[in-house]
Amino acid sequence: MPELPEVETVMRGLQARLEGRVLRRAVARRPDLRWPLPPNLVERLTGARVTSFRRRAKYILMRLDNGWSVLLHLGMSGRMLLEPIGRNELTPHEHLELETDDGWRVGFVDPRRFGSIDLIDTAKEDSHRLLAGLGPEPLDDAFSVPVLDAALKGKKTPIKAALLDQKVVAGLGNIYVCEALFRAGISPQRQADSIPGTRAKRLVPAIKETLREAIAAGGSSLRDYVQTNGELGYFQHAWKVYGREGEPCPACPGLPACDGVRRIVQSGRSTFYCPRTQR
Ligand SMILES: [Zn+2]
Repeated sequence: MPELPEVETVMRGLQARLEGRVLRRAVARRPDLRWPLPPNLVERLTGARVTSFRRRAKYILMRLDNGWSVLLHLGMSGRMLLEPIGRNELTPHEHLELETDDGWRVGFVDPRRFGSIDLIDTAKEDSHRLLAGLGPEPLDDAFSVPVLDAALKGKKTPIKAALLDQKVVAGLGNIYVCEALFRAGISPQRQADSIPGTRAKRLVPAIKETLREAIAAGGSSLRDYVQTNGELGYFQHAWKVYGREGEPCPACPGLPACDGVRRIVQSGRSTFYCPRTQR
């Protein structure tokens, strides 16, 4: 499932190619993904100029010059393709196709159809039902130590679960919560209401740095954020603890007190951490 840095790189790839372009053609190949597509989607897209992009949590917003924003969510298996018109055959499960006035083609591919596409009045983006309840954007200044302190006060859940709560901070998923807790030296099992204060002062920058580094890695490993097969945004990223059960722990090289990265299951999902340095 794409996480925030992947969504950010997909958005930057779309932005690099589509901003300022007119959408000459739009085709919707099914009436629904996770939810029904707006009935006037194709009509609103066709002939519109793309003016700007924005990411909010794991949603991409593509603004058009007709006052509408297209909301895109990649769901579990969604991918975006970007290629010159006519280079390849249509990909299976390509549900939405766009063509630009300068000869490029964008495809939204989603075999499992957990993704979503909607239209929002650009002036009312933040009141859309999928965006209205979201907490602060982790890379914005609005996500700060006092804000996290307030959000965690009185929370009896483990900090890992609290950080996955989209009302506490928007867009964090399993991988980057593990990585940020490792960087901050905080146990994923620690009760959330023990974080405010000194631990939050480590955690907030750890979250921001972890995400920034992953976004930078995507930008440097992909030319214009596009892979050679035309797929946008995904990249091999070296996580420090995620998916590394039993491997040497990068925080304690050669230390006998640490027997490597440990995996536990919290709320049905894997957590990877170092029991020695994460307290
Ligand atoms: Zn360790």
